[in-house]
Amino acid sequence: MRIAIIGGGIAGLAAAYELERARAAGSPVEYTLFEARERLGGSLSSEIVNGAVLERGPDSFLTEKPAAAELCRELGLAAELLPSNDAARKTYIVVRNRLVALPDGLMFLVPTKLVPTALTRLFSFTTKVRMAMELLHPPRPSGLPDEAVAALVERHFGAEAVDRLADPLLSGIYGGDAAQLSARTVLPRLVEMETQYGSLTRGMLAAHRQLRARAKAAAAKNGHSKAGVLPAPRPIFTALRGGMQQLIDALAARLRPDSVRLATPVSTIERNANGWSVCVAGLKDHYDAVVMASPAWAAAVLLAPVDPALSEELSAIPYSSSITVNLVYDQALLGPLPDGFGFLVPASEGRAMLACTFVHRKFLGRTPPGKAVFRAFLGGIRNEALLTATDEALVTIVRSELSEILGEKIIGIEIEPEYAQVARWRRAMAQYAVGHQERAARIAARVAALPGLRLAGNAYDGIGIPDCIRLGRQAARELLAANR
Ligand SMILES: Cc1cc2nc3c(=O)[nH]c(=O)nc-3n(C[C@H](O)[C@H](O)[C@H](O)COP(=O)(O)OP(=O)(O)OC[C@H]3O[C@@H](n4cnc5c(N)ncnc54)[C@H](O)[C@@H]3O)c2cc1C
Repeated sequence: MRIAIIGGGIAGLAAAYELERARAAGSPVEYTLFEARERLGGSLSSEIVNGAVLERGPDSFLTEKPAAAELCRELGLAAELLPSNDAARKTYIVVRNRLVALPDGLMFLVPTKLVPTALTRLFSFTTKVRMAMELLHPPRPSGLPDEAVAALVERHFGAEAVDRLADPLLSGIYGGDAAQLSARTVLPRLVEMETQYGSLTRGMLAAHRQLRARAKAAAAKNGHSKAGVLPAPRPIFTALRGGMQQLIDALAARLRPDSVRLATPVSTIERNANGWSVCVAGLKDHYDAVVMASPAWAAAVLLAPVDPALSEELSAIPYSSSITVNLVYDQALLGPLPDGFGFLVPASEGRAMLACTFVHRKFLGRTPPGKAVFRAFLGGIRNEALLTATDEALVTIVRSELSEILGEKIIGIEIEPEYAQVARWRRAMAQYAVGHQERAARIAARVAALPGLRLAGNAYDGIGIPDCIRLGRQAARELLAANR
């Protein structure tokens, strides 16, 4: 069986790895991975500068979703897994140019602790009263149409919670807009809680109690109960000591070199009676199956002659673009930074920066002693125009916004970074807009009618690295199973 994989991002690489494992175990499968760029990895790309790990794209993955750590362990990277420094976890929101810490007890946008919510400077008195009254929110009937995250959050906690909480948190993840993102896809737990409990706060507290009860039962089973302690919670994020590039390099090393074709964009694909023909630089080659692991907008172009309706659905998935700017400083030149991992910037602040991570705090050991690394995230769905700015202009914007937000005494504009790195990611992040699940179901139905075709990547069922890995591996396994 011959399988073409189109796209060498993490999803395509995960598919190739799965096929390579099957091949090495004796399965009669051959694969070719086509990647348009000169390097593998798609959005995953790290650079090490004087011992500082600088991430152009993602810096870590959610520990809660197992597929990424599992793959790292399989690849022999267990010792390289680096937990986030959760003891120092504190995130700020910029409010009128000042940093205000997210109140303790906030879970998935839902306030669950009375005193920190009452005392925080993040919300006005009116919003706090609204948050208290939310406990009385009636359940919403199930089966209603999908809605935007902003509508869900506003109904429960008011417009200020959208502006200062939902929007900055989501734009820090998706580069997206809470007024467009689908509540059912992005916050499925909250949608379920609203149906069951009405109040999201009551729902979240009930879920938390259940989780603790389960953890206690598991601890008792494992003999922890005598000591009266629960096992330490898992870190929120996991990174790789040498950068996310380590995962890409380890995957690439497992593949047969002659199965990987870099700088080779697939220009067309066709379906025929025996399978698929894949055309590269005017040359057609036959394959029995295709894993389409390019972004949905690129898949839409390739699949247009095969299934115009499928192509239309794929091209309707919106994407956002983003920019990362890493700045390395000599810490001795800076004032004392506030504690924590960094800050998020609400759109209402009118700044270019969407978020900034204090890298040296979030992951210990990735930055040499005495250095501070700031990783700013810019652009997003509301500010695509920024992509055309020069590197120099982007670095200047970040330096001046850092100085204005953190204060002249901490990081004056005149202090030169030792190193600056700029990366642009055009149409890299799929946006799960309202109605995404229905669209994904229509896409799945059309794909099911095209034997030998599978889709994988961040456009379908999870934007993060673990989901892309899960979908890539699943696509490969399904094709192998169908051939048995
Ligand atoms: C700046 C940034 C920060 C992020 N931070 C995080 C994070 O911290 N944690 C997290 O879990 N996720 C994060 N994400 C999201 C995550 O990195 C992506 O969703 C994921 O890497 C997407 O992988 P993919 O394989 O689906 O797509 P991509 O990485 O986009 O790969 C698709 C590949 O297909 C290739 N291609 C396109 N057309 C063709 C063609 N015709 N022929 C051949 N090849 C083609 C492209 O060149 C590309 O390499 C971040 C993303 C970005 C951009």
